[in-house]
Amino acid sequence: MTAKIINGKEIAKNIRQSLKEKISLLKTPPALAVILAGSDPASEIYVKNKEKACHEVGITARTHKFPATVSEKELLDLINDLNRTPDINGILVQLPLPAHINSEKILQAVSPAKDVDGFHPLNTGLLQQKSPDTFIPCTPKGIIRLLHSLSLDLTGLNAVVIGRSQIVGLPVSNLLLQENCTVTVTHSKTQNLSALCRSADILIAALGKPEFITKEYIKPSAIIIDVGINRTPNSLKGDVRLKDALDTAAYVTPVPGGVGPMTIAMLLENTFEAFLKQNRP
Ligand code: NDP
Repeated sequence: MTAKIINGKEIAKNIRQSLKEKISLLKTPPALAVILAGSDPASEIYVKNKEKACHEVGITARTHKFPATVSEKELLDLINDLNRTPDINGILVQLPLPAHINSEKILQAVSPAKDVDGFHPLNTGLLQQKSPDTFIPCTPKGIIRLLHSLSLDLTGLNAVVIGRSQIVGLPVSNLLLQENCTVTVTHSKTQNLSALCRSADILIAALGKPEFITKEYIKPSAIIIDVGINRTPNSLKGDVRLKDALDTAAYVTPVPGGVGPMTIAMLLENTFEAFLKQNRP
């Protein structure tokens, strides 16, 4: 069999178009502040892509760029300023930060009301409580949107998540539970990973190892969501060997063009939601 490709690029484009129309009706545009510290080439590309996507839908994006030698105090001072500035609706701190900076401290300084990445502990807690007042982290939110695009009943399906990071693995596990899936969270110490994965109706691969997931990990007719972005000398690779998924699964997301564009679309959506929440009559 040949699995269907879930076209994240196309789904994200439709979301961006719909946001653009809604934003064009506002009197003032939503605004996002991006903080970039250091010169990690991948981070610089991500930030450029985010800025471009913001401009395309009518969100004002302003990047605050610092050298890798920036102090924690400089970052905290800027965040405090941005928290207090009423015309900034969202604040995004591009990770990773330079090694000498305490990332947790920085992320916790962002006002939960402007935390469009959903990384503040308050928003993490609200997500657990299924509160609509949280910001759902962009990648997990985008993954659930991709699953919804299939118009399948997810209730009772076995979902296996590979990875337990705060950014992807844990929040997506939570969201899958909210979809009434039976969720298994796996990590680098998990035993018999391939057997667990072969029981998965939905497999979320978020481990960051190029083409780690091969045929032996894939249940026939499964839905495979490949979150991995691995830069190899010749190309960008996902965590899943696409050919094996195409041969075995029912649906698979490609890399690039799957989860990545959805992450950016969800950032735009969260910034728009932040604007609406801050401008409630
Ligand atoms: P982390 O490095 O923070 O987490 C990786 C997780 O995978 C950890 O929980 C780790 O386990 C687990 N893991 C590592 N090796 C194995 C293994 N051999 N078997 C089972 N589990 C393993 O990564 P992130 O969650 O931040 O990102 C994961 C991937 O997703 C990366 O490739 C990243 O680039 C990509 N990504 C893509 C995004 C997108 O928009 N498409 C957005 C964010 C990330 P342990 O906890 O035990 O160490």
